[in-house]
Amino acid sequence: MKITENVPIKELTTMRLGGPARYVLEVNNPSEIPEAYEFAKSKNLPIFILGGGANTIARDEGFNGVIVRNTMTGIKSAGVTDLEGVPHGTFSDVGEEKVRQDPRRYIITAMAGEVWDNVVAFACERGLTGIEALSKIPGLAGAAPVQNIGAYGQELADTFVSAEVYDSKTNEFKTLNKSDFGFSYRKSILNSTEKNRYFVVSITLELQPGEMQKPFYNSIEKYIETHNITDFSPQSIRNIVTAIRADKLPDPAKIPSAGSFFKNIYLTKEQAEDAEKKGYPVYKGHDGLKINSGWLIEQAGFSDKLLHGIRVNKKAALVLINESAKSYDDLAKARTEIIEAVKNKFGYTLEQEPNEI
Ligand SMILES: Cc1cc2nc3c(=O)[nH]c(=O)nc-3n(C[C@H](O)[C@H](O)[C@H](O)COP(=O)(O)OP(=O)(O)OC[C@H]3O[C@@H](n4cnc5c(N)ncnc54)[C@H](O)[C@@H]3O)c2cc1C
Repeated sequence: MKITENVPIKELTTMRLGGPARYVLEVNNPSEIPEAYEFAKSKNLPIFILGGGANTIARDEGFNGVIVRNTMTGIKSAGVTDLEGVPHGTFSDVGEEKVRQDPRRYIITAMAGEVWDNVVAFACERGLTGIEALSKIPGLAGAAPVQNIGAYGQELADTFVSAEVYDSKTNEFKTLNKSDFGFSYRKSILNSTEKNRYFVVSITLELQPGEMQKPFYNSIEKYIETHNITDFSPQSIRNIVTAIRADKLPDPAKIPSAGSFFKNIYLTKEQAEDAEKKGYPVYKGHDGLKINSGWLIEQAGFSDKLLHGIRVNKKAALVLINESAKSYDDLAKARTEIIEAVKNKFGYTLEQEPNEI
């Protein structure tokens, strides 16, 4: 287990803000996870688990605690009947496949420290559908269930089977099944009722050979029409999503952001009828009725605006870019201005998506 001290959190998160963390521990094997909790306990400090830092922001005062990062990588696949044999631990046989025993269902297990997009690539290369629209979401596999990542009509919960976790309450490794996670839009027990309790060690998904079923998400449909695409294989949809994202979203390796800074607004049937009467665009997604918060932000006049060093992204107003903010306080001021303006104009309260250390 690697231990470093006084590490600036801005170097660990894609928003590139935040003061020093007292300790940063790196675990590269599940057996080191209990040791990390012991370490924090011995210092009487709290723990924050960090993946790629793509959905996390930190304050200027930093974190007087222990940040635990993980470098446990590996992806493994198996026919469903092999599921019993999927072991805990870092896989030594990355990429090695067992014989498919059921051609309609396919199991993939990824270690928490694996880059999420490598998991998507792994599935697409094998012609497996279920997560191709989640291509290029930044971050690590272990964080994917935390907010039930979603994009372009798919979300993790659609294919999620289970996760191996370390339970810091009972100090044991266990398996949590999909039904334990309480998944909904950008939500699971990991970011709500059981926040900070479980360390995800690996996630297991069930995919299928084949193609994504129509109707496709609007922007995918548009891209297909404009480019005359007739191949809807997982790899082709992955290429389409990659192109759409490259056009609209900042690359976190080059431009600091935490992706969507606000959640979309989900409405009841009555609220949706009321919104439609007022002329607001209501979308009927497979997960319910919603208003795109990016639209609200644009209509409130913020598109491409620079607020305290924070740029409201021109092509996707939900995304706030740290162009020249000097501190978390700058971000907080920009956040407040946007929330208040949207509230005053539309009556909706925007909710922040990224977690705070
Ligand atoms: C440009 C950009 C585009 C984005 N687009 C999307 C998108 O389309 N859809 C979407 O859903 N999200 C999107 N995001 C947000 C982000 O990519 C996801 O939330 C992703 O899952 C974060 O992964 P991470 O490893 O960076 O998580 P981190 O930011 O490191 O952590 C996020 C949360 O998960 C917890 N966590 C991390 N690892 C573990 C673990 N092993 N066990 C338990 N808890 C853990 C952390 O404590 C924290 O609370 C985008 C972000 C950026 C910067």
